[in-house]
Amino acid sequence: MKIHTIGGYDEVGKNMTALEIGEDVLLFDDGLFMPAIVGVEEREKIPTEQGMTGLGALPDVDYLVKKGLQKKVRAILVSHAHLDHIGAIPYNSYRYNANIYGTPFTTEVLKIIMEDNGQRINNRIIPVKLNSSIVVKGESGNYNVEFVSMTHSTLQCSMIVVQTPEGVVMYANDFKLDNSPVLGERPDYRKFRELSKKGVKVLIVDCLYAPQDMKTPSEKIAKVLLEDVLFGTENRNSAIIITTFSSHIARLKTISEFGKKLGREVIFLGRSLSKYVTAARNIGQAGFMKNVRMYSYRRQVEKAMKMVNKNRARYLVVCTGHQGEPGAILDRLARDELPLKLKKEDHIIFSSRTIPTPINELAREQLEKRLKKHNVRIFDNVHTSGHGGREDLRDFLNLIKPKHVIPSHGDLKKTTAGVTLAEEMGYVRGKNVHLMGDLKSLEVK
Ligand SMILES: [Zn+2]
Repeated sequence: MKIHTIGGYDEVGKNMTALEIGEDVLLFDDGLFMPAIVGVEEREKIPTEQGMTGLGALPDVDYLVKKGLQKKVRAILVSHAHLDHIGAIPYNSYRYNANIYGTPFTTEVLKIIMEDNGQRINNRIIPVKLNSSIVVKGESGNYNVEFVSMTHSTLQCSMIVVQTPEGVVMYANDFKLDNSPVLGERPDYRKFRELSKKGVKVLIVDCLYAPQDMKTPSEKIAKVLLEDVLFGTENRNSAIIITTFSSHIARLKTISEFGKKLGREVIFLGRSLSKYVTAARNIGQAGFMKNVRMYSYRRQVEKAMKMVNKNRARYLVVCTGHQGEPGAILDRLARDELPLKLKKEDHIIFSSRTIPTPINELAREQLEKRLKKHNVRIFDNVHTSGHGGREDLRDFLNLIKPKHVIPSHGDLKKTTAGVTLAEEMGYVRGKNVHLMGDLKSLEVK
């Protein structure tokens, strides 16, 4: 078998890996490079494939053409609903005569995004329940593909386990080991042991935080951090505005529960929030929304803002814009473009972390400058990540004991940290732990 690393090995984003066996290719993920499209979502017209390629937002799938692999693609397997894993599908999936498989939340998000953007594709999109499997028929064999539940930072995240005639390939992007998730199941350690016993030939694994000597805190800790800010500061007469990742349904659930406990009416503002919440609702995972009012389009948002402006202590506002995205609601609030006027000592809570790329950092810095002109109080980084640190990764490698390790989901600094960790554990660089980059291939024996 050969593993081709198409995207996400020289940067954080545009994740795509191809598994080639004989006449068959299975693709893992097909995502966007998000920093390239900061603000694009708010534009009137969605760019074409060519436009997105020009922005550097898509994995370089011409590689598959050059290697004669494009025609061999039998399935597109997607791990979870984040755009750096599924967002390129509407632009390039027409190239493949293949179905798209993912968990119900993941496929629901994909459908809703395309609907919202007015995009259509001919590939069939097939939801597969968590912890169940499908068979992909190929020319060189049939492939049992299982979507194994894993903790991360959106709903129904999965690790993709493919049984091939040449052994098991496991695609573990993205993950952390969270034993107290706020929503969804704990990692299935019994399943991991079972897989390890049967033998995993190749593990492709999230190394975003492999350089950090830590175990990433559980989502339960993010809940405590939020509780501390919301119930441990003087906010009786202030507006409370929280911004977080729209896809982070567990966090949104926590926020809505605390809003209720504070005696405030919770309102969600913004299209991106509406898309993910609708997807969660469509699969029956948004019970918390019964206490929340959702406003998605411009006019509705403005109306809601007027309401909040009149009685700021009555509401808790959740909105988009935590990365400083131009045109997102928080940006417009900071620029005084909305009917809600920020006042001295209003609370702005970032339940997020700025993605460490120059574009995001600059956008965020400019947002903060504008916010501070209003003399608001800013609570930053009320958050825990969805990506495991070095010590999550070590535990995971010890559990799975794969024959080969391929670090992924980051630039060379991050994947190298994955390699050195594996070396500490007895793996040998170039022999059974492999430092890749984009557009490389590796024959695994
Ligand atoms: Zn993710």
